[in-house]
Amino acid sequence: MKAKYSIVVPVYNEEQAIPIFYKAVTKTMKSLNEPYEVVFVNDGSRDRTVEIIKKIAEIDKSIKLVSFSRNFGQQAAIFCGLENAVGEAVICMDVDLQDPVEVVPKMIEKWKQGYDIVHGRRTVRKGENWFKKITSKIYLFFLKRITKLDIPANVGEFKLMDRKVVDTLNSMPEQDRYLRGVSAWVGYKQGFVDFERNERAAGETKYSVKKLVKLAGRSIVSMSTFPLSLAAIAGILFSLVSTVGFTTFIIMAINGHYLPLAAWLFPTITCCFAFLFSIMGFNNIYIRRIYQEVQNRPRYIVAEKVNVEN
Ligand code: UDP
Ligand code: MG
Repeated sequence: MKAKYSIVVPVYNEEQAIPIFYKAVTKTMKSLNEPYEVVFVNDGSRDRTVEIIKKIAEIDKSIKLVSFSRNFGQQAAIFCGLENAVGEAVICMDVDLQDPVEVVPKMIEKWKQGYDIVHGRRTVRKGENWFKKITSKIYLFFLKRITKLDIPANVGEFKLMDRKVVDTLNSMPEQDRYLRGVSAWVGYKQGFVDFERNERAAGETKYSVKKLVKLAGRSIVSMSTFPLSLAAIAGILFSLVSTVGFTTFIIMAINGHYLPLAAWLFPTITCCFAFLFSIMGFNNIYIRRIYQEVQNRPRYIVAEKVNVEN
């Protein structure tokens, strides 16, 4: 029987967490009395992760596994899971039970009320130190302004998506996708379920500060072309400075003030910078267009049609 619900779980060196997760998720999903599947995506684990999942999959056919040849990262693993999931509603979650499985039925309830995306929103964030909390706040502040997208706060990868949302995401051919960004970008009817984020049930975090910084950089590049505009902004600023510089110096010279030759270097150099940054700015306009064409995102996404055939 085809699964109605799919749970997509990226796993990387999670031999300790998997048995605990499996027990919890099975109990919750069985209580719903509808066919479900759990799609584990092994992100190049080097411990007994695959072995453990295979053992479980032998006796429980609702457990599926897709295994990467090496570590490609959590985002790649999530999108691979979305491509392999068959459910009408697909739930992404971590394996460490920081995202509590008891929240899943609440998400499904919301989905049945007509929401296409239901985000898990953390009210309490246990197991995260102040550094992570503050940096994630600052990061979101800038990300929202740069991308001009309404990316919700205290929301991570834990979310339910309707089949049509998953199909839309799967149809986006770009290389570097970032779930938090694209799930805000696609629109549709978005809802929330609040939950308390637990500490990790077992094992350790797979995210070092270096990995987090890298992810932050990648997500900005994937969701925004704002950094390309910096050259044009610098071009405008240098033009203003050099115009003000030349005008003041010329007025001073007319009024008989002696200006050493070296002083004219200031407006001359800023003028050169203005020229260079403007050229760079124009180049970046074309680079942005090329990037957008290469990303090849749908120009619009239709949610509904009335009295429209075909
Ligand atoms: N993960 C992954 N590949 C990676 C890093 C993490 O598939 O390169 C998985 C990991 O197994 C877990 C989820 O992504 O299921 C979240 O990772 P983690 O709990 O370490 O992140 P944190 O909650 O500390 O931010
Ligand atoms: Mg975690």
